Amino acid sequence: MAFVSSGYNPDKPMEGRKSDIGPRKYDEFYPPFIAKNKGNWDYHEILEPGLLMHVSKSGDKVYTLRVGAARLMSVTHIREICDIADKYCNGFLRFTTRNNIEFMSESMDTIKALKADIEARKFKAGSNKFPVGGTGASISNIVHTQGWIHCHTPATDASGPVKAVMDEMYEEFKQMRMPAKLRIALACCINMCGAVHCSDIGLVGIHRKPPMIDHDWTDRLCEIPLAVASCPTAAVRPTKVDKDGEKINTIAIKNERCMYCGNCYTMCPALPISDGDGDGVAIMVGGKVSNRISMPKFSKVVVAYIPNEPPRWPSLVKTVRHIVEVYAANARKYERLGDWAERIGWERFFSLTGLEFTPHLIDDFRDPAYYTWRQSTQFKF
Ligand code: SF4
Ligand code: SF4
Repeated sequence: MAFVSSGYNPDKPMEGRKSDIGPRKYDEFYPPFIAKNKGNWDYHEILEPGLLMHVSKSGDKVYTLRVGAARLMSVTHIREICDIADKYCNGFLRFTTRNNIEFMSESMDTIKALKADIEARKFKAGSNKFPVGGTGASISNIVHTQGWIHCHTPATDASGPVKAVMDEMYEEFKQMRMPAKLRIALACCINMCGAVHCSDIGLVGIHRKPPMIDHDWTDRLCEIPLAVASCPTAAVRPTKVDKDGEKINTIAIKNERCMYCGNCYTMCPALPISDGDGDGVAIMVGGKVSNRISMPKFSKVVVAYIPNEPPRWPSLVKTVRHIVEVYAANARKYERLGDWAERIGWERFFSLTGLEFTPHLIDDFRDPAYYTWRQSTQFKF
């Protein structure tokens, strides 16, 4: 890690460097009008869903068109995005933290032509390639993780349920009729590479069964001490089993101590944890990063388990839609989902949404539970 205090010079990032590992300095990629007005922006407005205008103190204006994007992209799709940027934006574009693409221009005429062009671009089946929206009080793009296509520990897919949920929410992406911005995220296991802890609605893949132990491979594929050390609840221990009359080194798991986190599988591929019946999705709500109305907050589990139902995850989609509808009908303007639930009380949140409150929703992980348990008799019904 290069700190200025350690002598690193951001103006000469390659000075003294023996390798070229790591990204180039971000400001090399600013469009000229962004570089020129850096630190000088005065205000911004959302002119219409998906279209922003930023105004500099110098009077310069930049218009930004925001479009939804997939998280897993083909090379041909990326080339098409680059061609659009070349045609209208001198080759510049940016991605937001929610994986929206933003095309920027100083000319409103250019942005209008760009909008007409990209709204006419369709996939072969007829769906929009580049839907415009995701600004202000809308449901923006869903940020998600790798899912079944790539990672080794997912308890649910990522692109599949996200596509199904976002298809359901499509109109809310294109309009700004929510009480406040509403952010949805998905992480396919509780390692939570996605932003589910700080999103209004978080979808989290969960395992519900301990890892299976493949004794034939434990000693051949794994460093057994590493697998033992990886378990946060000390459920993993070394042992020996008889195999064809021979004692082999392997692993034993105390199932009642296991919390199905999958850490040991990360260390030892002979401990697979994915399971068709055990795996599914939990729903969390109320997280946010913003300081508006209240401090940033972590989301809380409100649905402990929904089974995986590929390819369209109907139960998950229906539950998310329902939570969104109840929130939209009851929250005050500018109130994020977590602020609304805290104002009316979580008891009322459960009675309004009709979601069942079960013991599985109570935090029982030793350290954080001291802080998250309610420690008074103040209930709101
Ligand atoms: Fe892999 Fe878990 Fe991250 Fe998904 S959330 S990409 S399963 S580590
Ligand atoms: Fe331990 Fe997690 Fe493996 Fe269970 S899944 S044995 S809690 S490391």
